[in-house]
Amino acid sequence: MKEDIENLNFISNPAVVENYLLLEDLGVNEFIDKLNREIKTCKNLLSVAVDIFNKVTIDEILDTAVLKISDQFLPFFIAFIWKPEQNRENITVRNYINRKPAEIITPIESITPFESFFRAFPKPVAYDILALPENEIDLDVLKVLDELNPELVVPILSPFGLYGIVLVGKKANVEEGYSADELFFLDQLMSFLSQAVQNNLHHEHSVRDVKTGLYNHGYFMTRLEEEIARTKRDIMVSSLMVIDVDKFKIFNDIFGHLAGDRVLENLAFTIKQTVRSEDVPSRFGGEEFTILLSNTPPETAWMIAERLRMAVASMKIPWEPPLPQVTISLGVVSFDDQTDASPDEIIARADAALYKSKGNGRNQTNVWEGGRQVMESVALLEEL
Ligand code: GH3
Ligand code: MG
Ligand code: MG
Repeated sequence: MKEDIENLNFISNPAVVENYLLLEDLGVNEFIDKLNREIKTCKNLLSVAVDIFNKVTIDEILDTAVLKISDQFLPFFIAFIWKPEQNRENITVRNYINRKPAEIITPIESITPFESFFRAFPKPVAYDILALPENEIDLDVLKVLDELNPELVVPILSPFGLYGIVLVGKKANVEEGYSADELFFLDQLMSFLSQAVQNNLHHEHSVRDVKTGLYNHGYFMTRLEEEIARTKRDIMVSSLMVIDVDKFKIFNDIFGHLAGDRVLENLAFTIKQTVRSEDVPSRFGGEEFTILLSNTPPETAWMIAERLRMAVASMKIPWEPPLPQVTISLGVVSFDDQTDASPDEIIARADAALYKSKGNGRNQTNVWEGGRQVMESVALLEEL
């Protein structure tokens, strides 16, 4: 009999067939059906978890969650609202209408009004319940959400408390509300989503510089090493640009560190706007930055450097009293499959080009002098 169960021949076993009515009376068949349904739900949840955990970016995680929810039922809209930083109030919102990312007005400014409720009741709830006076949620906050007409609110919880909520609209194609099984599914899915989003945020924090939001030194070094290997493997040329703010010590001495910090934030913003999504802009340390430009010849790297230099030279930074114009000096080096240099040596070459820019009067770009790349770049310089 044990073997039959393992081989799933249980139902066709003659002894079972003979006693079918008895099993039916005892409710065994119904019980087996129920267990089968639960196994199916668990298998489904497992595959949902695997799919969500395999995603790299937050957008991919959310897209997957929405797809998985839509496999079960189709809400009119789903709005994810969460705090990217534990200690800050500011929130990020992503909305989906009929499975597709969509723009709807940011419904609220903070999730704090929901914190104590979901700490006491960490489960999906019908939206209407939130408005009950005993739940003590600010009615003005709810009034804003009313316009969206959500049916459910699902908390996103971390071990440190509430860090997001998900608003789920009514079902799109049917009149009925959400069943207990569907609420269970949503609850489980959100706990996977919560873990996946937190992993992503922790990873982002570990590779980013807090002040500027650019990549940090450690991440840059890893990527530089990878890029050197890649140029050899794919036979291509890549470039590194180093950037240093001119006379920044005096700037700080005269205008103060806070003004200096504001300059660095604005510079980082300008850098982000100048680079392509595949480039790696980093804060190397202090007022020094690097940009790793994959698959980019020296002429292009030089042009990007000059574009950045000019953008910085016309950067407007609101401050009282008004600040003088800040400038940067840049050094560029390129490396390809023929280059025999360690990451530190590549950086030293870019630095040498940067020192030349400093020595020649600052607010300019120089390309490392050595190797064939420089020749091409100098030729281009003459052309312009
Ligand atoms: P040079 O044109 O030769 O680069 O001159 P410099 O004064 O910029 O060079 P130096 O390296 O001597 O000075 C760098 C200054 O950058 C010193 C430091 O006060 C300032 N600095 C470094 N990191 C920060 C930061 O995070 N915030 C602020 N406000 N200043 C910083
Ligand atoms: Mg410096
Ligand atoms: Mg400097």
